[in-house]
Amino acid sequence: MSRFFNPSLAGLDPYTPGEQPSGRKFIKLNTNEPPCPPSPLAIEYAKTEAARCNLYPPLDGGELRLKLAEHYGVSPEEVVVTNGSDEVLNFLFKAFCHKDSPAAFADITYGFYSVFVALNGVPFEEIPLRDGFKIAPEDYIGINKNIFIANPNAPTGLVLPLCDIERIAESNPNNIVVIDEAYIDFGGESALGLIKKYGNLVVVRTFSKSRALAGGRVGYAFARPEIISDIYRIIYSTNPYNLSRTDIAMALGALEDEAYTRALVGGIIEQRRRASEELKSLGFELTDSSANFIFAKPNGISAKELYERLKDRGILVRYFDRPRISDRLRITVGSEDEMTALISAAAEIMKGRDGK
Ligand code: PMP
Repeated sequence: MSRFFNPSLAGLDPYTPGEQPSGRKFIKLNTNEPPCPPSPLAIEYAKTEAARCNLYPPLDGGELRLKLAEHYGVSPEEVVVTNGSDEVLNFLFKAFCHKDSPAAFADITYGFYSVFVALNGVPFEEIPLRDGFKIAPEDYIGINKNIFIANPNAPTGLVLPLCDIERIAESNPNNIVVIDEAYIDFGGESALGLIKKYGNLVVVRTFSKSRALAGGRVGYAFARPEIISDIYRIIYSTNPYNLSRTDIAMALGALEDEAYTRALVGGIIEQRRRASEELKSLGFELTDSSANFIFAKPNGISAKELYERLKDRGILVRYFDRPRISDRLRITVGSEDEMTALISAAAEIMKGRDGK
């Protein structure tokens, strides 16, 4: 750290993304990316749009904002488009959380929430998940805090039913309740239909997972127009051109190609089912994941050792050296071949240890 760095940020502990290796080719099951390229339409639109990149991109996501509104049956004023959903999450902490209006989120959830509170100097409470990594809605009822819930949660993959989300939103009318639906297309019920009923509800989405655009960096959120215009206030005070022309074009192509998204999601759900069964038969203990990853506790070998030995064999999964979850691995659901490779590598490693 240089001597010029802002002392109030000295304690900032940045988010640690999953490894992005260069050089050796790995089977990458560590960052919840889909195993296939973006839709051909997304690629085609981006190529065409690249020729117009001498011009600044349209503001407010241009046509993408309109198309998202049309696609999801809301008005454009109820949509904000951002540079990945990480950007809108950061702006939600910045815009709505402050010393008289703290944030609250689970102790085991998306790791960026605790970075955003530090970055924005926001007071917060971490609410422990209950047994089985479950969110207990009672813990969030009437707490008068801005609540951030990943649904399905990460890295557990567990879903909170809509009726619980309603109770939480209803009982905290003076705070925002953010439902981060990065993985919702792989399971669970979206809270999008509730934004008209609850003026404090914000639903955050991304093109990174089910629409295969993690490298495109496009996120979005739905809420009532007053909240959306507050977020745009922050965008216009930070970087009005938060999405490039090619980002917007790719997202438009991906949104239009519903058949491609449906096939991708169907394939992941099928591989999740198959890999879960096989991992269980190897003795892993799993949560009931509704996301594009499996949260698995190995038996007879520590998660850390299994992570390292898989890595030696060219397979990357995610190990979190954190209390309560250091005995588990988060394994992204990849292609059929990737999951077969993972399962046979895990079987061999575990068999070797048993000395069988
Ligand atoms: N929310 C959750 C729960 C996530 O796991 C992630 C990414 N790993 C994000 C949001 C951010 O995704 P992106 O910025 O790529 O949209």
